[in-house]
Amino acid sequence: MQAESYPALHLFIGGEWLGAEGRDSLPVTDPATDAVLGALPVATPADLDAALDAAAEGFRVWRAVSAFERARILYRAADLMRERARHIGHVTTLEQGKPLSDSVAEAEACADIFDWFAEEGRRAYGRIVPSKFPRVRNLVVKEPVGPVAAFTPWNFPITIPSRKLAAALAAGCSVIIKPAEETPAGCLELVRALDDAGLPKGVLNVVFGHPAQISEHLIASPVIRKLSFTGSTAVGKHLSRLAADNLTKTTMELGGHAPVIVFDDADLDQAAMMMARSKFRNAGQICITPTRFYLHDAIHDEFVARFTRIAEGLKVGNGLEAGVAMGPLANPRRVEAMESFIGDACERGAACVSGGARIGNVGNFWRPTVLADVPTEARVMNEEPFGPLAVTQRFARFDEVVEQANRLPYGLSAYAFTGSAARIAAVGEALEAGMVGINHAILTGPETPFGGIKESGHGSEGGIEGLEGFLNTKYIAEGPGPAALD
Ligand code: NAD
Repeated sequence: MQAESYPALHLFIGGEWLGAEGRDSLPVTDPATDAVLGALPVATPADLDAALDAAAEGFRVWRAVSAFERARILYRAADLMRERARHIGHVTTLEQGKPLSDSVAEAEACADIFDWFAEEGRRAYGRIVPSKFPRVRNLVVKEPVGPVAAFTPWNFPITIPSRKLAAALAAGCSVIIKPAEETPAGCLELVRALDDAGLPKGVLNVVFGHPAQISEHLIASPVIRKLSFTGSTAVGKHLSRLAADNLTKTTMELGGHAPVIVFDDADLDQAAMMMARSKFRNAGQICITPTRFYLHDAIHDEFVARFTRIAEGLKVGNGLEAGVAMGPLANPRRVEAMESFIGDACERGAACVSGGARIGNVGNFWRPTVLADVPTEARVMNEEPFGPLAVTQRFARFDEVVEQANRLPYGLSAYAFTGSAARIAAVGEALEAGMVGINHAILTGPETPFGGIKESGHGSEGGIEGLEGFLNTKYIAEGPGPAALD
């Protein structure tokens, strides 16, 4: 049975909305109530082949549309997303759990992403390089890479698809996207806005099903020329291996385990407020969430006290209720992960300063948690926790803390707080991360590159780099030919 205000779920292939008739389906549940929201159709192998055919034809059509006209369609879609932000936000909270105000803000921010890439697609400039031969022109031109397979996770079920879709479509690519099966409706609403805005049939296709089967089927096809994945490092490595068979281009946005360094000269109120807001936003299920807090000996206890006060003041509950600052975890796997990480750390001697336990037995609610003096061998100091969990260690020296911050194979985001101009410069250079926030916590925007290094992946989404990921560079040498000029 469909819950009220949760839309019926479909595949979208070749411009057609396809329901569950004649297909298997998967239940979608509300992480706050455990209620079943809807039934998600599972794509058959024939559906996947139809999506590949549609994307191949869609690419032929879309690449021939001028960048100017492509931008007009993306602007129109962005306007529709803004008009529908309340509905898209509501759907997102139902299936993902985050507070409604966050979901609505996210839907509005998605519209900004489409606007920005609409503009940027018109600036896919090439260049002319002087030749050493007379009357020869060396042209460097940018062309869309081709049909894209995109795989997106459940933590930002509309933002992450928006980054991939807006950039790919602005560049002139067609797309087959497989959003997370746990949170399908938000992305389908974005697709509806693009369809209503006049995107030609076949340019964008949406499939759902068993992730491993779909990724194997799509990535093996010679139609797909670009793979864009956001999710865990383990799955990213697996998909990279599949992509290697056809030497398909990849962008990989993978896991992180962000260090936060708070020096003894930092503004502690500012640091605690910024980091607590960031840590518990989306219940900590964010790849750039601050997690490993390295606190200078002199301020460790004071910072923990201020940070914990903020954590304990957060209202945890159903994201549809007014005043809720943190919703449930998105699925029961995260509850199990929190139990296991916290149990392991405490057994090894960490102090549980706050939280550390589930709330109730309906939905996936977890108390914001702070663990202090966590030993380096604890699993949580080494594996991405992906939940509302902050862990601390003490440090005394700059070199020592930088070594700890850079110790893991992850390199997505990192944060530092200090009042010293010299330390601001030094720490920005020393941290091994794709994104660094110094006395600042916000690292996402359509205009700025978003991406990691090391095992956090490669390629950037956002910024001019986001468009570049969907473009090939072609060199054309034009000689004067045999014809005389006069
Ligand atoms: P998971 O590794 O099973 O799945 C992560 C995502 O990858 C999901 O969206 C899933 O549908 C997709 N996926 C899994 N196997 C796939 C395959 N073979 N082909 C294509 N897609 C596939 O883990 P999970 O329990 O869903 O999420 C937990 C972990 O995932 C977290 O610990 C975190 O590391 C990571 N994660 C990262 C992000 C991010 O923004 N980078 C987002 C969500 C999850």
